[in-house]
Amino acid sequence: MAIVVQKYGGTSVGDVDRMKRVADRIVRTHRDGNQVVVVVSAMGKTTDELVDMASRISERPPERELDILLTSGERISMSLLAMALQDRGVAAKSFTGSQAGIITDAVHGKARILDITPGRVQEALDGGNVVIVAGFQGVSQDTKDITTLGRGGSDTTAVALAAALDADVCEIYTDVDGVFTADPRIVPSARKLEHVSYEEMLELAAQGAKVLMVRSVEFGRNHGVRIHVRSSFSYTTGTLVGPQEDNVEDAIISGVAHDTSEAKVTIQAVPDRPGVAARLFSALAEATINIDMIVQNVSADGRTDISFTLPRGETDKARGVLEPLADEVGAGGVLVDPDIAKVSLVGAGMKTHPGVAAKMFGALSAAGVNIEMISTSTIRVSVVVSKDDVETAVQAVHGVFGLGDDAPMEVS
Ligand code: ASP
Ligand code: MG
Repeated sequence: MAIVVQKYGGTSVGDVDRMKRVADRIVRTHRDGNQVVVVVSAMGKTTDELVDMASRISERPPERELDILLTSGERISMSLLAMALQDRGVAAKSFTGSQAGIITDAVHGKARILDITPGRVQEALDGGNVVIVAGFQGVSQDTKDITTLGRGGSDTTAVALAAALDADVCEIYTDVDGVFTADPRIVPSARKLEHVSYEEMLELAAQGAKVLMVRSVEFGRNHGVRIHVRSSFSYTTGTLVGPQEDNVEDAIISGVAHDTSEAKVTIQAVPDRPGVAARLFSALAEATINIDMIVQNVSADGRTDISFTLPRGETDKARGVLEPLADEVGAGGVLVDPDIAKVSLVGAGMKTHPGVAAKMFGALSAAGVNIEMISTSTIRVSVVVSKDDVETAVQAVHGVFGLGDDAPMEVS
C-alpha cells in the first residue's frame, strides 16, 4: 500500500465547509487504497489571532507559553477533521506533534526537528486509520516543553513525516495551483511551473516565495521526498518539487521571488582590521538573529561600512546588540533602513549561461530602479531595492527573461 502524506494549509481548512471538502478529498485518497497521513494547519487566520491576543495580554509574551497557545490552533483543525472523517465512515485518529513523535530542539518559536519517532502514527495507520497530525509543532528533547517550528511550519511537519514514514509522495495543498514564475498578484502573466529542482525551490522559498517553508524543502532534498504542491480547490496537477525526470530539459530561469519582510542595517566606519566582522556577527549569532545578505565595502582611510539584511522584526534586537559593540570597536554608528525589498532571480541554468546578471541589472536600470545591494549564489542573483520599487523590479526582471505565458519559454 502506498503511503500518501497530505498537508492542508490554513485557507484550505478555513471554515467548516472547507474542512468538509478536505474530508471528502481525503476519503477519496483513502478509498483509492492508500494509507493516508494528513497534516493540518490552523484554520484561516487563527495563528495570527492568537499572536495578537498574546500581544494584547503581555508586551513580551513568555516564549514557552506562546508556543503552547499557538499549537492550539492546529489542535482545533486536527480534531474537527478527524470528526468529519468519522462522520463519513472512515476511521481516523488525530495526534498532536508531540504524540506523533516530532522531537525538536528547545528554541521556542523556531524549533528545529531533531528526530521523528512516528510509532503511534504507524500503529494507527496499520490499524486502518487515516492519521491526522497537528502541523507546526513538536516537543523539545531536553526540556519536554511544547515547541513550534516557525510560521508556515506545517509544511516542514508534513515533509519530515513523509521522510520518516518513507511515503510515496508528500502533497502540499494550498490555495494556489502550484509554484509560479512570480507572484501572480504582481505579474498577472506568471506561469505555473511543472517541475522545480530542490535547489531551485530552496532558493525561491528562501528568497520570499511563500508557497513552501524553506526547512520543508531542505528536508525533502536531504531525504529525497517527492513534494507535490497543488491546490485544494481543484484536482489539477500542481508543481512537482524533486529530481528531474529523464529527457526533460528545464528552463534556464525558473522564476523571480521577492521579499518585503527584511530590513537593512549598516554599521558605519568600522575599523578595517582582522577580527572586527567576526566580533559583530558572533554577537548577532549569539542573540540568535538570522542574518541574510552581507556586503562590506572597499575601505577608505582604514574604515569600511558593513551592511546586512535581517528579518524586520529583529531590528530592535540587532540594534541592542550592535550599538554598544559599535562603540567598543570604534565604529561610527548603526543605521537601520526598514523600507527595503529583495528581488531574486533563480534558475539552475545560470551556472552554464553567462550574462544573466547583466541582463537582470539592465532591466532594472531601464525601469529606473536603483540597486542598493547585490548577492549571488551559483543559481541565484538577488538585489536589494527600495520597497517602493518592488513591483516595478519584479515585473521588469520577469519580463526581460520572458518567463510569462505571454512570451515564449527559454529552454537551455
Ligand atoms: N498555523 C501556522 C502558521 O500560520 C503554521 C502553518 O500554517 O503552517 O504559521
Ligand atoms: Mg500556512
